[in-house]
Amino acid sequence: MIGVSGKTKNLGVIGWPIAHSLSPAMQTAAISAARLNYAYIAMPVRPEALPAAVEGLRSLDFRGFNVTIPHKSAVMALLDEVDEDARRIGAVNTVVNENGRLFGHKTDVTGFLRGLSRQGVTVREKRAVVLGAGGAARAVLWGLIREGAANIVVGVRNAPKARESLADFSADAEILSWDGDAFAGALASADILVNTTPLGMTPKTEEAPPVDWDCVRPEAFVYDIIYTPGCTRFLCEAKEHGHRVTNGVAMLVGQGAEALSLWTGVQPDESAMEQALLEALGR
Ligand code: NAP
Repeated sequence: MIGVSGKTKNLGVIGWPIAHSLSPAMQTAAISAARLNYAYIAMPVRPEALPAAVEGLRSLDFRGFNVTIPHKSAVMALLDEVDEDARRIGAVNTVVNENGRLFGHKTDVTGFLRGLSRQGVTVREKRAVVLGAGGAARAVLWGLIREGAANIVVGVRNAPKARESLADFSADAEILSWDGDAFAGALASADILVNTTPLGMTPKTEEAPPVDWDCVRPEAFVYDIIYTPGCTRFLCEAKEHGHRVTNGVAMLVGQGAEALSLWTGVQPDESAMEQALLEALGR
């Protein structure tokens, strides 16, 4: 921030609860590094207050805001337009206010893909295996589909439930129980393996999705979208088996950088954002 004045434009994040959000630290670092005249704050919004809060932010002429749990899907009906990423995923994490019209985006897709491109990994014609079928998996799946993956298999503990929740992805992704032989076959030919389950996330760091590393080709790139701890059991096991890996930090930074660039037109300094994020995480 270059000092708040009457000309400062407002940004923020809405969620409930919101005190744990890392976005204010990360966005403020990027705003300062680029010497932009913006301020970014955390705004607690109870579920029942969402419509009033969105109308309030529009009336207050906020330039934009991030949206987090539990509002990511509910906010869509309150916006004027949503982009294709948000429509395919069924969730919005970034809203841009263009002269009173609110546009919804889902920047986790760009964030997820940034985690791959930063490591020099391309998706086109690759075979991918995704573990988990929740909200984050939808962004990961759409990113892989959008970038032209040759084949996508989703491994889960409860295949019937996941087939229902991912029915809209059924043309592009096969859903298998991660206990079966068919899944072991998919693992054996994967080029990219992504964990989107919370297994291994702090504080339950002893947990991990059930992957038989002897089945996975050593060339496979392994991605855990969890960002705390920095090396989950899943990721540490992958490293021990010689895989190239990345964690969820680049995805978190990437989604924030894409949001700030949508609001300001400036491509932010991602290393400043990453540093602020790691500091906020105590690393
Ligand atoms: P979610 O919607 O609750 O989905 C979680 C998925 O994992 C579901 O498929 C769920 O299966 C499965 N799962 C949960 N607990 C399990 C267990 N004990 N055993 C087996 N499967 C289990 O959560 P989400 O929003 O997708 O988030 C998932 C993770 O991604 C979190 O760790 C979150 O921090 C991380 N994330 C990271 C970023 C980033 O920017 N790096 C962004 C978003 C999310 P069931 O349906 O069977 O319960």
